[in-house]
Amino acid sequence: MRRTRALAGIGIAAAALLALTACNSGTPSNPGGGGDGGDGAGDKALFEVAKDVQLDGSPTFDAMQKRGGPVIGVKEDQPNLGYLDATTGERSGFDIEIARWIAASLGFAEDDITYKPIASANREQALVNGDIDYYVGTYSITDSRKEQIDFAGPYFVTGQGFLVRADSEMTEVKDVSDFNGMTVCSATGSTPIQNIKDNFKQIETAEYDIYSQCVEDLLSGKVDAVTTDAAILIGYAAQNPDELKVLDGLFTEERYGVGVPKGDSALQEHINTLFTDGGDTWQAIFDATLGQSGITVDQPAVDPVE
Ligand code: GLU
Repeated sequence: MRRTRALAGIGIAAAALLALTACNSGTPSNPGGGGDGGDGAGDKALFEVAKDVQLDGSPTFDAMQKRGGPVIGVKEDQPNLGYLDATTGERSGFDIEIARWIAASLGFAEDDITYKPIASANREQALVNGDIDYYVGTYSITDSRKEQIDFAGPYFVTGQGFLVRADSEMTEVKDVSDFNGMTVCSATGSTPIQNIKDNFKQIETAEYDIYSQCVEDLLSGKVDAVTTDAAILIGYAAQNPDELKVLDGLFTEERYGVGVPKGDSALQEHINTLFTDGGDTWQAIFDATLGQSGITVDQPAVDPVE
């Protein structure tokens, strides 16, 4: 039954897969910069910093105003999504630009933002503790996470995939169970590692806080594959196009949301309205970041606030 379920999952996501694997090579492009007043990626301003913003009933917004800017939880080792260039100090990627767009809509420029790298396993707790005001970083909307936090969005849909060494026989894998007896690496607390543990018990798992460490182990031969969302894996493959390959196969649907503190429906609805009424901004952000790797996807409809 396990096999059937995996294949069915792949079928559901086939259309998304085709788009997501459209270009599995080349150099990741990180046009974001935004060091000059929250104007988004590249030279051209993608969005304006709003003035005189009021957001009644949002304790999170009140805290941001008091502090003079938002503290945003992000990833920083995921090319084209959430990436920190250690040399220049520039942050870039689709998630980073979404985070900046939200900040700008709340009246905050780039210089007002404090970014906090938070690993997958620690996101809910960071929001619960009030360490961050919101989180933008390949964060799948799930019911169990919703017990602790709320999500705005979704603002992007992808699915779980696999990254393997280009010179290995694993490039021929057609089914997740073909990894039985092998070691697959993923991030602690992520949905992909949970899927493997729950549904593919004959696959060995290795875990790190961050995916880039899994990628190092894959390159050095310590593990047989890295599994996480295809949108993330495409960025790693693009960094090592001769050594790494993303398999043709998705077996889950991962809907990315913006994590917000539980109960702050004013902030949640503000972000949803931005996504819904934001005109061409989502597309402009996508084109300047993830779209550079050849991916083509549509902006998803946001979920109604429950
Ligand atoms: N989207 C998945 C998740 O939220 C995997 C990526 C990640 O770990 O951020 O768990």
